[in-house]
Amino acid sequence: MLITHDTECALSILVELLNTAPEACGSEQLPDTAALDAFVVKQEISEIDSLTAADLAAVQLLRGRLREVFSARSTEDAAELVNAVVAAAGTTPRLTNHDHHDWHIHYFAPHAAIGDHLAAELGMALAFIVMAGERERLRRCEAPDCERVFVDLSRNRSRRYCDSRTCGNRLHVAAYRARQRSAEAEAVAAG
Ligand SMILES: [Zn+2]
Ligand SMILES: [Zn+2]
Repeated sequence: MLITHDTECALSILVELLNTAPEACGSEQLPDTAALDAFVVKQEISEIDSLTAADLAAVQLLRGRLREVFSARSTEDAAELVNAVVAAAGTTPRLTNHDHHDWHIHYFAPHAAIGDHLAAELGMALAFIVMAGERERLRRCEAPDCERVFVDLSRNRSRRYCDSRTCGNRLHVAAYRARQRSAEAEAVAAG
C-alpha cells in the first residue's frame, strides 16, 4: 500500500477526531474550546494559536464532512467530498523539519486556523487513500451498537471492529472462543 508514515499519522488523528462526534459515541466529546485544546495537545497538532468558539464550530462542521467520506457510495463521491474539503482550506504545501521530526510536508498554511489546518492535513490524507485505491479501508465498526469509524491498515483488510474498549474486547473474546474451539477440535481429533 502506498501510504506514507505521515499519512498514517494524519489518518490516526482523523479517526480520533471523527470518533469525538455524538453520532459516533453518544455524546459530544468536543463540547468546548478546552476540550478542543486538550485534543490539540494530545494529538500533537502543531502551529495552533489560541482557540475560539468559531474554531470549535469549524472543527465540528469539518468533522461531519470528513465522516461523509467514510460513507461515500462511490470513489467519485469520495473524491468530490475530499476535493471540497481541501479546496475550502486553501492548502500551502511546504517542507518542514520542526521539533526534531524528519523532513515532511505540511499542507496547511502557516498558523492557519485549526479548522483549515485539519481540513488541509486530514483532507490530503484521505486524498492519498483514495489515490492509492484503498478507500475500502475507511470503515465503520461492525459492532451492532457502535458507530465509530476506523482505518483498517491490516495487511489483509480483515479488521471489523474499532479499538474502543467494548469493541476491542469483543474482538478478543471472539478470538479466545475461536482458539478454544480449535483446541477442543484438536483434542477430539487426537481422541
Ligand atoms: Zn509537522
Ligand atoms: Zn466499535
